[in-house]
Amino acid sequence: MRKTGFICDEKYFWHDTGNGALFMPAGGFIQSHESSENPETKRRFKNLLEVSGLMDDLVQMKPRYATEEEIRYYHTQPYIEKVKQLSALGYGDAGSLAMVGKDSYEIALLSAGGAIQAVEAVVKGNLDNAYALTRPPGHHAEASEGMGYCIFNNVVIAAKYAQKVLGLERIMILDWDVHHGNGTESAFYDDPNVLFISLHQERLFPAGRGNVEDTGTGAALGTNINIPLPAGTGNAGYLHALQEIVEPIATEFKPQLIIISAGQDAGLFDPLARMMVTMDGYRRMTKFVIDLADKLCNGKLVACHEGGYSAAYVPFCSLAIVEELSDQRTDVEDPFIEGFKDLPVDELYDLQREYVEKVKVEQAKYWSISTTV
Ligand code: ZN
Repeated sequence: MRKTGFICDEKYFWHDTGNGALFMPAGGFIQSHESSENPETKRRFKNLLEVSGLMDDLVQMKPRYATEEEIRYYHTQPYIEKVKQLSALGYGDAGSLAMVGKDSYEIALLSAGGAIQAVEAVVKGNLDNAYALTRPPGHHAEASEGMGYCIFNNVVIAAKYAQKVLGLERIMILDWDVHHGNGTESAFYDDPNVLFISLHQERLFPAGRGNVEDTGTGAALGTNINIPLPAGTGNAGYLHALQEIVEPIATEFKPQLIIISAGQDAGLFDPLARMMVTMDGYRRMTKFVIDLADKLCNGKLVACHEGGYSAAYVPFCSLAIVEELSDQRTDVEDPFIEGFKDLPVDELYDLQREYVEKVKVEQAKYWSISTTV
């Protein structure tokens, strides 16, 4: 059993994204319903932690508010002011599809603060690892623009805090949210000390981002790794990418801390993507990263919640992650998989191999990575 922190706050669930349908606000021919990014998915995850009994064995921590100075590690002052104004107003878009409700500014500060606290506690050795159930999510947020439900980039701010305040020299960020982590990529595109790896469904969101050829700039060439995978990729394809690309490059990079941008929207039932990762897949992916962290950085690992929009399934995928982090098993089994047991989630297809191989060929310019070509 490991000492695993769990950072959450009821206020995270009070961030109001307004009425809409999927990712669009209501209006015109879109009848008012609910945004895909609503509190329910995350709240149900927290509830499952409690009902399963796992919560009792976690170190529960209340997040603090990030300071405005910490937000400025990445975001511009005019953008911060814009979020503040929209939040006071009670409704608006902080960029493209990044809805702000009443008090969302303060809640976004608390979300970034939760990521900072998780990182600080793990780096200082107060915890072995941690899961921050932060909301709003962060990985799409650019320096001067909110995007895709994300207001402030929690993981970027926490990683910069680890650099500036905690003195870390090498940090690896593994973003397995099904969408490309554009905001995080932008933040560290010219920073050779942060290895950013994004696994995502190809050409999903945002348009034009997440290409294999986007590998960083200047001294940071090779420290930005995009792994686009074809629609339909399941557990086997994700694990193949982790083994073939992430393990050798991370081993060569030698991070002192690994942060996972943990979006569980590559899950089998997600309404916003077309991947097929199961609860067991998330379990094995987490185990893989834990083993890597044990080997490279004394187990120092923080998972920070990003997307995931199946209110029924995300809690189970996320529970498996926390079970692995804390090295415990509850009685909870995947209740849905029986109905889909013939799906080839654990089969690796040639097409998926080809996608991974393409990334390896590109990255072989910068890393000792073997390719079959
Ligand atoms: Zn996502």
